[in-house]
Amino acid sequence: MRITPEPTMRRLPHYLHFLKRQLENGVEKISSTIIAQALSLDSTQVRKDLEYTGVKGKPKTGFFVKELIQAILEFLTWTTRRDAFLIGAGNLGSAMLGYNRFREYGLNFVAAFDTDENKIGSEIYKVPIFTLDKIPSMARRMNVQVGVLTVPAHAAQTATDLLVEGGIKAIWNFAPTYVKAPKEVVIENHQFTESLAALTRKMVEVDFHLEKYRLSNLEGNRT
Ligand code: NAD
Repeated sequence: MRITPEPTMRRLPHYLHFLKRQLENGVEKISSTIIAQALSLDSTQVRKDLEYTGVKGKPKTGFFVKELIQAILEFLTWTTRRDAFLIGAGNLGSAMLGYNRFREYGLNFVAAFDTDENKIGSEIYKVPIFTLDKIPSMARRMNVQVGVLTVPAHAAQTATDLLVEGGIKAIWNFAPTYVKAPKEVVIENHQFTESLAALTRKMVEVDFHLEKYRLSNLEGNRT
């Protein structure tokens, strides 16, 4: 199996969303150039990325939209159902439990875990909440593969250890900290602040360059 470059993996959902919108608008065939233009990418890059899915575009026709959508879904294994546990049913955790789209992508929350006694025994979006000590045995019994961490940073490692004890294969961590697990466990850290840092820094830099451009135009007008 070819190793997929990480930027390719991260771009594939963007193609998928765009292609789904095209299909809804009745578009049946599409070229990599159109996809590239719509997503402000290079068309060679788009072609290379899409090659990983195994679907080949034809020189004049391009890609069949439906076929390409299916190929991306299969490549990302989003056609396979994966049961998941969520640890920390607070603001972010509840929002994730209520986000129906995850099911479309195969991620199916079957239980959540929390330390708050008011939440234990209740349900959020029909997902039952349990105490943390139940994680290992329930994960093994239910063959749960994915653990989602939406706990405070200080609680993330303990939750990870319980998930690992339960034989979990992957951890999607939203807490602003890094967690440790054996190397066979896939860990994906999602730091909101990473993208916020890029946003705020880019704002300053764009402002700086616009101001520089404005000043150089003023100078030019004076001479
Ligand atoms: P929250 O306080 O609303 O929810 C945290 C939940 O974790 C609560 O239900 C709490 O009872 C539970 N909890 C506390 N200690 C626990 C423990 N030891 N084990 C299990 N559960 C425990 O917080 P939130 O806003 O949902 O944020 C959760 C995590 O996600 C934090 O690490 C936060 O930094 C991160 N995060 C949140 C957002 C957001 O939009 N809310 C955005 C980015 C990152």
